[in-house]
Amino acid sequence: MKKINVTVWNEYRHEKKDKAVADIYPNGIHGCIADFLGIQDDIEVRTATLDEPEHGLTDEVLDSTDVLIWWGHMAHGEVKDEIVEKVHKRVLNGMGLILLHSAHASKIFHKLMGTRTLDLRWRESGDKERLWVIEPSHPIVQGIGEYIEIEHEETYGEHFEIPAPDELVFISWFTGGEVFRSGCCYKRGAGKIFYFKPGHETFPIYHMEKVQRVIINAVRWAAPLANLPIRFTNGHTPERLEK
Ligand code: ZN
Repeated sequence: MKKINVTVWNEYRHEKKDKAVADIYPNGIHGCIADFLGIQDDIEVRTATLDEPEHGLTDEVLDSTDVLIWWGHMAHGEVKDEIVEKVHKRVLNGMGLILLHSAHASKIFHKLMGTRTLDLRWRESGDKERLWVIEPSHPIVQGIGEYIEIEHEETYGEHFEIPAPDELVFISWFTGGEVFRSGCCYKRGAGKIFYFKPGHETFPIYHMEKVQRVIINAVRWAAPLANLPIRFTNGHTPERLEK
């Protein structure tokens, strides 16, 4: 069985600056995500971080990545434009991309969505969040049940300036009354993209079994299908045409 090659990218700054975050994620958010992905039989995982040369996303790494996971927050502006260009090109050519939590404001999400800001309403309040499954037959929500409940999370609310998702699989409700489109699927070129809201750094969200299940499912959903070399041709038909 060919395994899905996953690269988990993290800016890896909060964990170095804030002991409370480091206590939750001693090996970084990327380390935690790589741990639960790495024990899946069909997934091969590695990590990359902002401060590595080329942010750890060399041509060799990107060319051999089937699905890239992206967590960023305080250092979106430090991500080099030429790396964003390369990631963008790889997505259009079929690499899957999973954007987590504050990656809504990353350069790569902006570039792929083509919108003005991708801004949203937010409060750092520790509200309860309930993510309702609204597309029960979607592969990403299998094994989740009706909803995911997170006891304490950062609140994100509408309006969220995104293009209408091709498939919307979760809507979140918060104790403050806000709602938010928290699981959004897109296709761009040959690539599949999933934005998934949970994962504020001061709460142990990526240790939660259901959140892990969604990310594992999303990796399998976003992995490129290998049987279709896409050709754009002119003047050729599959049928013999009479002159
Ligand atoms: Zn946050």
